[in-house]
Amino acid sequence: MNPFSLAGKTALITGASRGIGLAIARGMREAGAEVILAARSKDKLEAIAAEIGGRALELDVASSESLRRAVAEIGDVDILANVAGMNIRGKAEDYTHEQYDKIMQTNLHGLFELTQLVGKKMITRGKGGKIINIGSFTTFTGIPWVSVYAMTKGAVGQLTKVLAAEWACHDIQVNCIAPGFILTDLNRAMWQSEEMDKWRKGVQAIDRLGCPEDIAPLAVFLAAPGSNYITGQVIAVDGGATTTAKWPVPSPTT
Ligand code: NAP
Repeated sequence: MNPFSLAGKTALITGASRGIGLAIARGMREAGAEVILAARSKDKLEAIAAEIGGRALELDVASSESLRRAVAEIGDVDILANVAGMNIRGKAEDYTHEQYDKIMQTNLHGLFELTQLVGKKMITRGKGGKIINIGSFTTFTGIPWVSVYAMTKGAVGQLTKVLAAEWACHDIQVNCIAPGFILTDLNRAMWQSEEMDKWRKGVQAIDRLGCPEDIAPLAVFLAAPGSNYITGQVIAVDGGATTTAKWPVPSPTT
C-alpha cells in the first residue's frame, strides 16, 4: 500500500474553481483520485475538468436545496474537502444581518450540512472516509475586522474535533488545515499594501506569502492511507505565523 496514493478513491472538493480548492483538486488528482469539482462557477469547473480530468458539479454551499440536489447527483465519495469559503471584513458593531447570514451560511452552516449529507453516505456504505476542513489563522488568533469569519473558522476547528470523536468508529478521519496568509482572490487586494506586507513579515518565521500549492500536499496526505492514525487535528500551514514572531533583539555575539 502506498501511504500517499489516492488511487481508487473519489474526492469531492468544494471551492474547486480557484485558489486553495483548485490546488487541492489538482493535488488529489495527481495522487490518483477521481475528483468532483464543486463550486458555483460551472463554466470554470468544466474548463478545469477538461484540463485535469474529473467532473464539474454546480453547487452553492449557502443553499440547502443546492447541497441536497448535488449530493443526490453524485455517487459514493471517499474524501470530502470542505474548502469553499468567503469573507466580508467589517467592524463587529456594523455587520448587517444580511452580511452575517451570508458568511455564516457559506462558511459554517453549508459546510455542516454538506458534511452531514456526505458523512451519512460514508457511514451507510461502511468503507470509512476522510474529511478535510479548511479553517484559518483566525481559528487560533483574533485579528480585527473579521469577527463573523473568525466565528465560522473557530467553529470549523471545533466541529473537526467532535466529528473525529463521533465518526472514528466508522473509520472516518476528520482533520482541519488552518492556512495562514495565502495569496488568492480572497485577499489579493489586501496584500498590495506595503504596510500589510511589512506586518506579515514580522509575524512569520518564513516570511514569504503563502500560495495555494503550500496547502495542497497536506490535504492530499490527510486524504491518503498514510494519515489513517491522524484525526481531530487542526494543523496550521502558515510559515510559523501562529507559532513564531520576529524579535528585534540583536543576535548574541559568540
Ligand atoms: P478564493 O480564491 O476566493 O476561493 C473561494 C472558493 O470558494 C471559490 O472556488 C468559490 O467558487 C468558492 N465558493 C465561495 N462561495 C461559495 C458558495 N456559496 N458555494 C460554493 N462555492 C463557493 O479563496 P481561497 O483563499 O482559495 O479560500 C479557500 C478557503 O480557504 C476558504 O474557506 C477560506 O476561508 C480559506 N482560507 C484562505 C486563506 C487565504 O489566505 N487565502 C487563509 C485561511 C483560510 P465560486 O465563486 O465559483 O462559487
